Amino acid sequence: MQYDVVIAGAGLHGGLIALALLDAEPTLRLALVERADRPAGNHTWCFHRADAPPDIGAWFARLPLIGWPGYRVAFPGFGRTLDLPYCCLTSEALAAALKDAFAAHATARLITGCAVTTLDADGVTLADGSQLRAPLVIDARAMAGRAEGGGYQKFLGLEVELDADSGLDRPVLMDACVAQGQQFRFMYVLPLAPRRLLIEDTAFARTPELDPAQRRAAIHAYAAASGWRISAVLREESGLLPMPWRGMPPAPRMPLTVGYAGGWFHPATGYSAPSALRLAALLARHRRDPLPALRTEWRRHRRRFRLGLVLNWLAFCCFRPDLMWQPFARFYHLPLPVIARFCSLQSTALDVARLLVGRPPRGFGSAWRAGQHTSEVG
Ligand SMILES: Cc1cc2nc3c(=O)[nH]c(=O)nc-3n(C[C@H](O)[C@H](O)[C@H](O)COP(=O)(O)OP(=O)(O)OC[C@H]3O[C@@H](n4cnc5c(N)ncnc54)[C@H](O)[C@@H]3O)c2cc1C
Repeated sequence: MQYDVVIAGAGLHGGLIALALLDAEPTLRLALVERADRPAGNHTWCFHRADAPPDIGAWFARLPLIGWPGYRVAFPGFGRTLDLPYCCLTSEALAAALKDAFAAHATARLITGCAVTTLDADGVTLADGSQLRAPLVIDARAMAGRAEGGGYQKFLGLEVELDADSGLDRPVLMDACVAQGQQFRFMYVLPLAPRRLLIEDTAFARTPELDPAQRRAAIHAYAAASGWRISAVLREESGLLPMPWRGMPPAPRMPLTVGYAGGWFHPATGYSAPSALRLAALLARHRRDPLPALRTEWRRHRRRFRLGLVLNWLAFCCFRPDLMWQPFARFYHLPLPVIARFCSLQSTALDVARLLVGRPPRGFGSAWRAGQHTSEVG
């Protein structure tokens, strides 16, 4: 079968790119192939509203996002309410948007329950043996394996129903006032509806292992301590995101690799929604000849990516795990635009200076003193 574009993987990047391409060219012959029985996986993707480029297109406005005027953070002895509009896209919402978009475009095909087995610049072969050819092939199958030279962000989240309103009007992005131990630990709470919360127990650690039973128990204890009575657990999600301090994203080439596998993520937050939104907008504008624009974007991305590597190294290698919350608390003292640009991988040179220069946070060097220091970075 001949197409204009074939995308392998209907996750965050593959899904958003497909929506943007179909919106820009309604008669595009597009195939989106997903290994699972339904697209979009099992995630709740959060990002700042400002992460979406201004010219992203009408498809973005149609996405059923849940939004808030900002969020809170809490550390021992310091808390802040940040008025930075924040929102989330659930897998369910992305799957519904894809279903609608593919139903409305006769030349587009969403293939689920079938893995891509081989992929090159001319097309893909599927597990059932069929071949899809296209001048633009996009590999959005996400990363495989673990980070080499880096730590991890690992988390388990429970979406819960409460027996009364939570009282939260905005997310709590980081509540680090919880027991720390041999990792930097915090709770992350999204008020999805007055009586529905997603509570995630998150840790930044050197090792990828996570004990699900322990995390579930910790979430229940945190909910009880916050005065929330859980009447039902609706869903569970978990994740393991690399937080590297070594390894740069590869230069774009055909076939295009997007998403985690292409290095299109934020090394210091583990998030990739900002990159996914920018790539979707860029590919919709430059579908016929994407490499020049992508390489320009990649050069910008590399510079900010390197900053993330340095910050990961500082956090993981210069602070003892129980004091690792200190640089994050310092970060959240910064002006709102600096925080927003950092999260969106858009830091300016002045932002970089504000992030790196000045009196180091308390605990700096404690990892050296404890013999937990690693020297390689970049
Ligand atoms: C639970 C969780 C929560 C997260 N929350 C956030 C967040 O709030 N904000 C944020 O920005 N980032 C978040 N992230 C990080 C990151 O943005 C996500 O991991 C994001 O989904 C990565 O996008 P992706 O397109 O690279 O991969 P994915 O979204 O994982 O998509 C890859 C897709 O490819 C499919 N696939 C794989 N192999 C094949 C194959 N051979 N053939 C066909 N299909 C295949 C997979 O089934 C999957 O659907 C989260 C990650 C996790 C795990």
